[in-house]
Parts: sequence; C-alpha cells; structure tokens
Amino acid sequence: MTDAIEYPALHMKKGEDARLRAGHLWVFSNEIDVARSPLSGFEPGDACVIVDHHGKPLGVAYVNPNSLIAARLVARGMDHALDRSLFVHRLNVALALRERLYDEPYYRLVFGDSDGLPGLTLDRYGDVLVGQTTTAGMERLKDELTAAIVKVLKPRQLWWKNDAGSRSMEQLPEYCELGHGDAGGEVIAREAGLTFGVDPVGGQKTGWFYDQRENRDQLARLVKGRRVLDMFSYLGGWGLRAAAYGASDVVCVDASAPAVEAIAANAERNGLSDRVTAVKADAFDHLKALREARERYDVVILDPPAFIKRKKDFREGSLAYRRLNELGMQVLAKDGVLITCSCSHHMPRAALLDSVQHGARHLDRQVQMLVALQQAADHPVHPAIPETDYLKGFVCRVLPAQ
Ligand code: SAH
Repeated sequence: MTDAIEYPALHMKKGEDARLRAGHLWVFSNEIDVARSPLSGFEPGDACVIVDHHGKPLGVAYVNPNSLIAARLVARGMDHALDRSLFVHRLNVALALRERLYDEPYYRLVFGDSDGLPGLTLDRYGDVLVGQTTTAGMERLKDELTAAIVKVLKPRQLWWKNDAGSRSMEQLPEYCELGHGDAGGEVIAREAGLTFGVDPVGGQKTGWFYDQRENRDQLARLVKGRRVLDMFSYLGGWGLRAAAYGASDVVCVDASAPAVEAIAANAERNGLSDRVTAVKADAFDHLKALREARERYDVVILDPPAFIKRKKDFREGSLAYRRLNELGMQVLAKDGVLITCSCSHHMPRAALLDSVQHGARHLDRQVQMLVALQQAADHPVHPAIPETDYLKGFVCRVLPAQ
C-alpha cells in the first residue's frame, strides 16, 4: 500500500471522466462534482486521487482550485505517490528516449504532459540543467523533483527558470534560482557540430530552442553559396547553421540586444564571423527597410515568437503572420526559399500555409510548399493533448506567378 491512497478524493461529475480515459491528463473545474468534493477544500498544489462518478479511483493528480485546469493527472491507478521515486522513474523513461535520439547530452529532457510530468519543462546542456515549473502542483514538489534530477543526472548545475508568464494563471510568482550546484562556468548548447553560449538566467525561456533543431537540418541542402536572412534569430540557431552549411552571407535580426551580442560571440566561437552579421531591430521595421532598399536574399527564415497566445487572439495574430510572410516574400530573390514557422498552438498548420498563399497572391507570386516542419522529437506530441503539438512550419519555394 502506498501513500497515494491517503490523498483526498476529487470526485468527477457523471460522464466527465471520458477525456481522462481517452488519455488526456487535465481536469477542468466544471467537470468536478463540487458537491462531493468542494474545490475550496484544496490548497493550490495539493495532491489528490481522481475518482469517477461511481467512486472508482482513476489515478493520482494534483489540484489547483484557482486555475481553469483544476487538476492534472500524474499517475494512472493507485500504485504511485507523487514523490521522488515516481520522478526518478519518469526521468529515466524520458532520458532513455533522448539517449536513443541524440549522440550528445543536449536536448529537451522533459516536455511536460508528453513525458508524464505535467507542469515541468527540463532542458539539458551537458552537465547543466534548466528546469521550469508552470503549475502549483509541480512548484510544490520542487524539492522532490530536484532530488530526483540530481539522482538521475548528477548535474553540475540545476537552474529553476521559473519566470514563464503562464505561471500567473496558477498565481505563482516569477523568479529564477540555482536549485543545485554552484553558479558560474560556461553553459553551452551543442547542435550539429556547432557550439552556442547560452545564458540560463538572462536568456529566453529555458535558454535554447531545441524544438527547431531538426528543422534547421533542412538548411544543409538549401543555402550553399546563398544569401540568408534569419529573422527573430535569438542566438543565431538558424543563421549560424546556414553559415556552417556554406551560405555566402548571413544576416541575423532580433529585437533583443543581449541576443544580438551573443550572436556575434557565437559566430566567433564557431569560426563563422566573416559571413555572419547580427542586427538589432524590430523585425517588421527591418523587413520594410530592406524592401525599400531593394535588398534581396535567397533564403529568408521567419521564426517569430508566438503571435497568438490565447485562442481569442486568433484574428489579430493570424493577421500578423500574414503581414510577416508577405514582408518576408518581398525581400526574397527570384526563385527564393521562404522558411516560415509558428510556435502558436492556436495557429493551425493550414492557417499558416494559408497566410503564405494569401501573401503570395497579393504579390502575384507562386508558392511551392516543399517540406512541412514540426517540433523536434525531444518535444514528443501527446496524441490526446492537442496543446502539446504547437510548432509548425513550411519550407516554400517562391516563384513569379505562372
Ligand atoms: N529563431 C530562434 C528563436 C526565436 S524566439 C531560434 O531558432 O532559436 C523569438 C525571438 O524573437 C526572440 O529572440 C525575441 O527577442 C525576438 N523578437 C520578438 N519580437 C520581435 C520583433 N518584433 N522584432 C524582432 N525580434 C523580435
């Protein structure tokens, strides 16, 4: 018998357990039988047992009475408490996948729900780990998690980069702290033989966008001897890969000054400075300026931040994608390649391709979609949870209208 069955019950209304049974992990507040288990009886982050209408336990979860997603299922059945030993097991399962996929220890090690650890993101930079909790339940379990991570991975440093905006939905504060080890020393990401300096504290999100790694491989056959424009470049992930694959000239553009400084350092570090320039600018303004100056690039990469954070922002956000793609095409050389991406879950694949096609017609161009892109395999999609499938993109050839 485990501690698990000591947890208080969270009763679901009749029929509301169907989604959980189909594989999903979330319980919305309106699905709970609050007459039997009032949410007011729970503190944010409390563990519970989810029980169906007939009184049958479905599994162990944690609760946040203040969130629309009132509970998240962590373990089906009644065999596992929410403790270090469960985390060690989940981390080992996650690690086995990444070790199979990659030769070097640089990857997203835990991708939340898809790795059975709702509310946790964990990125690995060799012997440095950067974690992020986004729910009160995971936040509450941080010490157990830290102990499990140290046991499985023995990192030199573990950072908790707990500053995601989404934490406000769980009424969690934003902060960043060293969870294990001593601060100091360099942190690097390695990708396709290149090395990038990463700032685990001051950088964006958890430091590096591993989700685009496999998409950046596409550049190998597209850029040799070509001029490349990498918009929203962050630390130069796309741009430096392009330079390494033989692009003649690469311009990286980002609005963040620290990112732009880091690109120059990363270019230097990889011996690519002679062909890489970094510019600090607003992407829309810069594209307009390039258009006016009649500058043209053979390959244009558009990898912006999420323009649609909430479903209700779809109209405005999709217009931004449309404007961006049109601007991108306007600075493409004849027979150029546009690589366009969206990391908004709320921007469907088809809508992104539509925005390209719309821009093309407006400019009287013809588009051939060559490759559809998705998030890398260290960000596995949970088939029952559409939100885990967020990154999409297209490699498109853009021709004059035929
Ligand atoms: N392409 C990057 C990831 C991009 S993340 C990679 O492959 O690693 C989004 C980036 O867009 C951030 O670095 C952010 O600083 C930048 N950004 C956000 N709004 C911008 C704007 N209006 N103009 C230019 N850059 C912007």
